[in-house]
Amino acid sequence: MTLETIPKDLRGLRACLVCSLIKSFDQFEYDGCDNCDFLRMKGNRDNVYDCTSSNFDGMIAAMSPDDSWVCKWQRINRFCKGVYAISVSGRLPAGIIREMKSRGIVYRPRDTSQR
Ligand SMILES: [Zn+2]
Repeated sequence: MTLETIPKDLRGLRACLVCSLIKSFDQFEYDGCDNCDFLRMKGNRDNVYDCTSSNFDGMIAAMSPDDSWVCKWQRINRFCKGVYAISVSGRLPAGIIREMKSRGIVYRPRDTSQR
C-alpha cells in the first residue's frame, strides 16, 4: 500500500460506487480506483464522474481490512487499506453494470441509507 490511497484533501472527495473507497477526484483520475481496475477511471474524467459519487455518508479508516469485523460487515475486507464510506448514494451507469456482469463481477449498490 502507498499513502496515495488516503484522501489528500477533504474537499472534492468522492467515493467509488462499487467498493466505496474514498479519495479526491484528482486521485481517482490519477490512479484510478485501487480495488476496481475494471472501472478504468485512470486518466478518464468521465469514468470518474460516472463511477464515483460525492454524496456519501460516514467514513471508515481501514488499516487491516481482512481482520476487521467492521470491514467484513461493510464487505470491504478483501479490499486494500484506505478510507471507505459507509453508504454511497448514486448508481453506476447501466453499461458499466453490464460490463461487470460479463466479467463475472456482481454489482451491489453501496447505498444503504434507505434501510
Ligand atoms: Zn472501487
